[in-house]
Amino acid sequence: MITLKRHTRGSAPAAGLDLHCHSWHSDGTLAPAELARRLVRAGVGLAALTDHDTLAGVAEFRREGGLHGLRVLPGVEVTCACAELLPLRAAAQAAREDGAGGTRCGTDPVEVHLLVYGLEPGLPAFEDFLASIRAMRRERVAQMAARLAELGLPLELGPLTARLESGSVGRPHLARLLQEAGYVKNVNEAFQSWLAEGRPAWLPKQLPELRQALALAQGLGGVGVAAHPGKVLPAGAAHVLVDLGVDGLEARHPSHRAAMVQELQQLCRRNGLSASAGSDFHDPALGRYQRPAWQREDVGGRLRLLLDALG
Ligand SMILES: [Zn+2]
Ligand SMILES: [Zn+2]
Repeated sequence: MITLKRHTRGSAPAAGLDLHCHSWHSDGTLAPAELARRLVRAGVGLAALTDHDTLAGVAEFRREGGLHGLRVLPGVEVTCACAELLPLRAAAQAAREDGAGGTRCGTDPVEVHLLVYGLEPGLPAFEDFLASIRAMRRERVAQMAARLAELGLPLELGPLTARLESGSVGRPHLARLLQEAGYVKNVNEAFQSWLAEGRPAWLPKQLPELRQALALAQGLGGVGVAAHPGKVLPAGAAHVLVDLGVDGLEARHPSHRAAMVQELQQLCRRNGLSASAGSDFHDPALGRYQRPAWQREDVGGRLRLLLDALG
């Protein structure tokens, strides 16, 4: 069998682990199948596609991955609000403030990205939950586009029609339209001038609370891992997330330095939780896919059980 030969050529099957990446079903640019092939070429043997708020790409990712020996865990990344982190952020802001004054409002939610693993597409209770988040996303993007029009930057939303219908739409898509319309030079400028928090076309997100999302996912048998806790969260946030009952922490992430990876790993080990690893890969134009440094053996806790069940 050709695929088997290809997969077993040399010695053992690829052992690399990547439990966080995005396809064009959310804000990535590759089809799930292309992403799966790329991962396999880079030495990944175990992977989860974790598009934002949708499991729509999982079947294609698994089908194509399976042809090349890739074992696939279903996954999704859900942006949540975490009220329990508000005091920590307020303390961090107070410590930073030196009279210059901040632009953030203390009542904006602190966002935690929750990676949910192990829930198959089609599970009604979870799909309904994801659909409600996509509806909120869709509404927000439509309102931001209306605001841009009021500000003198009307956009042709035609290219987003399908995305608006599915709800897999967000600020990056508006940013690309602003660039294509010639209002800004690049996506970065679109955010800095118009779409970033506090800028003229920005609107707050409506988000599910982490505690509720976690309870729902775990109640259905899923595993909830806090994504990149060292990226934007205030210092000490990981401890709060552990107290809130997450099953694991994404220790290895491109935004984490070595000391952070180690700290998160130790925190997981002390609490019997899963330390996870992800590339958060979105787009080959933003950089080559890096060969993963972690393997299944680096992951403990409930997530490891899910990985072992894949065979
Ligand atoms: Zn994220
Ligand atoms: Zn992500």
